[in-house]
Amino acid sequence: MVNTKNIRKSICEVGKLLYDRGYIDASGGNISVRDGDKIYLSPRQSGEHHQWTIDEDSIIVTDMCKIPIIGELSKITRESVSHYYIYNAFPEVKAIVHAHPPFMMSFGSAHMDIPAVSEGTRCVIGTLPITNIEESIPGSSQQAERVVENFNQRKKIDPECGLICNIPFHGIFSAASDLNYAFLFVEVSEINCKILINRQIMFGNNPKADLSIHHQITREEINSIGQDKEACEIGFKYRDPFGNETVYQGQKSPLASNVSADLISKITEEVLRKLKNN
Ligand SMILES: [Zn+2]
Repeated sequence: MVNTKNIRKSICEVGKLLYDRGYIDASGGNISVRDGDKIYLSPRQSGEHHQWTIDEDSIIVTDMCKIPIIGELSKITRESVSHYYIYNAFPEVKAIVHAHPPFMMSFGSAHMDIPAVSEGTRCVIGTLPITNIEESIPGSSQQAERVVENFNQRKKIDPECGLICNIPFHGIFSAASDLNYAFLFVEVSEINCKILINRQIMFGNNPKADLSIHHQITREEINSIGQDKEACEIGFKYRDPFGNETVYQGQKSPLASNVSADLISKITEEVLRKLKNN
C-alpha cells in the first residue's frame, strides 16, 4: 500500500484508508512520515474540511523543528507537536498515525488498559497491554511529553514492543518503522478491542466461557512465524504433478537446490500445458 518512492501520495492514501475504515473521523486524525531529516505531515483539518480526500500537494514538509520546507506553517496539523516529540525521542520511528478508533477509545473513556488477546495484536505489537496517558489538552506539549513517556515505559519493559498508546476520551498515537506498520498497529489494536467487547457482550456472564489465554506466545515463537517450514515429513509418499509416485525429500534437499531456474521454468511450462490439455 505505502509507496515509499512517493511519501506524499502514501500519506493521502493511508489517510483515506484510515477514514474509510473508521479509524479516523471528520473531527480529527493526522499522519506523518520521517525521511532523513525531513518530516512530511498531513494538513490541518483534513477530515473536517476534506473528508480525507486530500491531494499530494497539500502535504507539508518541514525540518525536525517544524520549519516548513514545502507548505505553510499555519496549514500543519494541530497535533504536530506530539509527532515532533516522538521523532526526536525515538530515532527508529519513521511514521506516526494519530487516530480516533472507536473501540480503542471505548477503553480510553473508562481509563482501562487494553489487554492484548488477539494473535495479530500479540504478534505485531507484543503482549504488553496498551495503556492510557493522563487526560491531556489536545495538541499540547503536555500531551506530547506524556505520549513519549508512555512509549519509553513500554520499551523499558519490552524493547521490541510496538509503540501505541491511548489518550482518554480522545484517540490514540501509533509510531513505527514505516507507515505500513503505523497503520497495522492501529488496525490490529482496534480489532483486538472489537474482540474484547464482542466476547464481553456475548459471553461475559456465561460461566462456561473460558476467556483465559492458554498459550502465552513468546518472542522466540513470534520470530519463528516467518521462518520457512517443511509442509510434509521427509519420506512422505505422494503423486507428483506428472502422475509419478514419489517420495518427499525435503525443501532443502541437495536435489532441490541443484535444480536450475531454467529447469524449474521448463517444468512449470510442462505442468501448465498438461493442465490445459486435461
Ligand atoms: Zn485527535
